[in-house]
Amino acid sequence: MEMRLKDKVAIVTGSSRGIGRGIARSLAKEGAIAIINSRSLDRAEVVAEEILEEGGQAFPIAADVTDRKAVETMVEEVAKRFKRIDILVNNAGITFIRPSEDLTEEEWDRAVATDLKAYFLCSQAVGKTMIKNGGGRIINITSILAERALPQRLAYCVSKAGANMLTMVLALEWARYNIRVNAVMPGFVATELVPKDIDKRIFDREAIIKKNPLQRLARVEDVGDAAVFLASQESDYITGTCLRVDGGWLAYGGW
Ligand code: NDP
Repeated sequence: MEMRLKDKVAIVTGSSRGIGRGIARSLAKEGAIAIINSRSLDRAEVVAEEILEEGGQAFPIAADVTDRKAVETMVEEVAKRFKRIDILVNNAGITFIRPSEDLTEEEWDRAVATDLKAYFLCSQAVGKTMIKNGGGRIINITSILAERALPQRLAYCVSKAGANMLTMVLALEWARYNIRVNAVMPGFVATELVPKDIDKRIFDREAIIKKNPLQRLARVEDVGDAAVFLASQESDYITGTCLRVDGGWLAYGGW
């Protein structure tokens, strides 16, 4: 089968592990050059090596996406080396699980900086390059918690809701530049983070699965497949959409 993203240059923020790593591998399998980003060059290199070993194309780059200068430098370097940027996946994210009365200002600022402001900074820097080059696709990884409130995740839920709205506003503004902007809202994904939380009894795995119409957690590949679709020509008439990849969780109205 023909590869759907042959030689497309794709930056995936926060792709040293978890969902970002999965998305980068899915894009690379479809022929994209996956730009692996993390705050640590060492950790980004490990994933880039892995993709190269699988026969894909990848390039590691370190940048803290909450830092405007670092983002601009990353985007300049990628644009200089590869001549253009076709795809941006905003994925790097963090969460603090705390009662809101105990959430510190520093934690609030860090969560909002990573889960919302970085999406703006990266979209703006890459968007300018895409405008010059005649278009592109931006995919924002948000969450089912953009649409449903969960206790003790105030900054996270607020940022994710904001990132969905950022998706819609940018989609409207940049349609004229042939830039499509969409979001993916994953349900609970079985990343390294989630089993740790299950161990700490923050999550009850069986209860999550029981409430899910498809009766399982999401896999990183489910999110990767959605990202490939939104990055490919097959979604050419789709922009400003926040796509649920949640096994039906958000549709469920019972208890
Ligand atoms: P992980 O904690 O496993 O990975 C986060 C990634 O982001 C790491 O690669 C980390 O790299 C990177 N990162 C964090 N901060 C920065 C920063 N300031 N600059 C650059 N990179 C950074 O998270 P997940 O894979 O679980 O989550 C990925 C995304 O998916 C997030 O946006 C999350 O909100 C969303 N999501 C996750 C769900 C889940 O169940 N796991 C469900 C729904 C949405 P490093 O530490 O090397 O810098």
